[in-house]
Amino acid sequence: MQTVSPDLLVHSARQLLSLASPEGPRRGRAMGELGLIQDGAVAIQGDRVVRVGNSREVLAAAGTGSKLIDASGKVVMPGFVDPHTHVVFAGDRASEFEMRLQGASYMEILAAGGGIMNTVRATREASLGEIVSQSRKRLDRMLAQGTTTVEAKTGYGLNTDTEMKMLEAIRLLDESHAVDLVPTFLGAHAIPVEYKGRADEYVSLVVDEMMPALEAEGYLDHQPPLFCDAFCEDGAFSVGQSRRILQKAKDLGMGLKIHADEFNSLGGTALAMELGAISADHLACTPEKEIELLADSDTVGVLLPGTPFGLAEAHYAPARRIIDLGAAVALATDLNPGTCYCESMPFIMALACRYMGMTPAETIVASTINAAHAIALGYEVGSLEIGKKADLLVLDIPDHRHLSYRFGTNLVQTVIKAGRVVS
Ligand SMILES: [Zn+2]
Repeated sequence: MQTVSPDLLVHSARQLLSLASPEGPRRGRAMGELGLIQDGAVAIQGDRVVRVGNSREVLAAAGTGSKLIDASGKVVMPGFVDPHTHVVFAGDRASEFEMRLQGASYMEILAAGGGIMNTVRATREASLGEIVSQSRKRLDRMLAQGTTTVEAKTGYGLNTDTEMKMLEAIRLLDESHAVDLVPTFLGAHAIPVEYKGRADEYVSLVVDEMMPALEAEGYLDHQPPLFCDAFCEDGAFSVGQSRRILQKAKDLGMGLKIHADEFNSLGGTALAMELGAISADHLACTPEKEIELLADSDTVGVLLPGTPFGLAEAHYAPARRIIDLGAAVALATDLNPGTCYCESMPFIMALACRYMGMTPAETIVASTINAAHAIALGYEVGSLEIGKKADLLVLDIPDHRHLSYRFGTNLVQTVIKAGRVVS
């Protein structure tokens, strides 16, 4: 029996979703299992979960003196982990949105010097303080909608100074905001206009100047390891160029991620397997044999249905096939100012059910425990298990399926981050 009363007790949840998964990410049929406890409770001491179970048992073990939150009639679950975002940037691209509605394609806008380059210009010009304050508002809205951990990429600098400024912005936001940020270096997001036609030279800049700067500035001492990502796509980086960047990152001890098969299949997913990437992201056009490779690997497939939705395109990643073949699948917003300005994981879950054939339960697994494994935090967040960080949500819904069944309203009533009520 416990001798000290926990600081906080969330009890009487109609459904408590523990997502307990001590074996690693969930895959195949296990992706539909939520660890559901009826009349569930969680006890929290400091920033950690100390007990999870039936309310009667948890309350009896707690004694008196704990602050209580009554979740009667509601759903309690871990906070969402958003494992693929470009949340840190300056400016916006509302005018391009309107151009696209009039018929211009995303790759045409990019070829004309717009797209990512538009945000690169704004981010290069903005001060560190401006980038931080603009990005902080997005994090506030993400937290209010239940996201407690966010992966955040660079990639709107595309020169050494601005890439470092973005990493500094991510570090400052992580230190000062309730949401935890996990940084990813994405120097290979696009080929900047000043390197047009000289992609290999730009890759050399990334490998020979930016990556040594990461080491010199101390960003490689990060835990989990700093991730390195590359946009492997026609009009961005070839498989060979992506391999050069990611191999160097691997040599430096960085974790690896890749944007693969968003519009075309170049072999980026196979490259992720070859190099042992922690995740391969997008996978809208991945061929069957590369999906089989993914299913046989430890790499998490991160699917981003907000992006085709944002572009009003009909082609989504074949999630049903990817899960049925046995791959571990996660969901993310891909929050970015061009293709998907979406801060809501529940909205992504709603899309995943309707356009990718996922079940409501699978979308919850993909947004919590599997998403945590996609950023090497699977043993720290993403489930309600003893010893894990006390990041949890009280949802004002009677059943977990309401999360993806309903959309467009915020169903999150309370957000608890590291044991503190923050929203
Ligand atoms: Zn992305």
